[in-house]
Amino acid sequence: MKETNLISIEIGRSCNLASIHTSCPSGDIDRYGDLDTTLPINNDQIVSLVSNAYINMEFKGMVAFHYYNEPLLYPDKISYIIDNVRKLVPHSKFFLNTNGYYIKDNVELVKKFSRITLSNYNNEDWSWLKEQLPSTCSLWVFNIRTLDGRKIILKNIPSLYFVIDLIRK
Ligand code: SF4
Repeated sequence: MKETNLISIEIGRSCNLASIHTSCPSGDIDRYGDLDTTLPINNDQIVSLVSNAYINMEFKGMVAFHYYNEPLLYPDKISYIIDNVRKLVPHSKFFLNTNGYYIKDNVELVKKFSRITLSNYNNEDWSWLKEQLPSTCSLWVFNIRTLDGRKIILKNIPSLYFVIDLIRK
């Protein structure tokens, strides 16, 4: 996995904007098709999977928690995973892709990430957050109005995605 620069784990299936962004697969109840989503995958298994990638598979990239969801709807899970992966892999890095709605409630958690990309649908001023983040964290705010605006983000962040769909019902 040394050529892979991102492992993204969909930590939960929900997004608070799914009812507004109707063309996003987030709100589609059939979005997993025939994929068996009944197998429970717990946080310790995720810790093990990610740590193993770093320790035994030459993975040197970042770990994220998004696909078609809002990661900060699951702060406790994310916090547990980050803290426990860091115990095993102190140099591990985490990437948060968020719509920003729950950042104010989770500032301490957000500080644990190395990179944050924020889809700023409400055109908010995030300078206060920039001031609070450690120098090890880069914040990229994208002022976008429509889902098509996301294409610009994807075009400008060349990442090889190794996506693991962990589905929570
Ligand atoms: S914020 Fe992102 S994940 Fe959520 S519904 Fe909109 S496009 Fe989908």
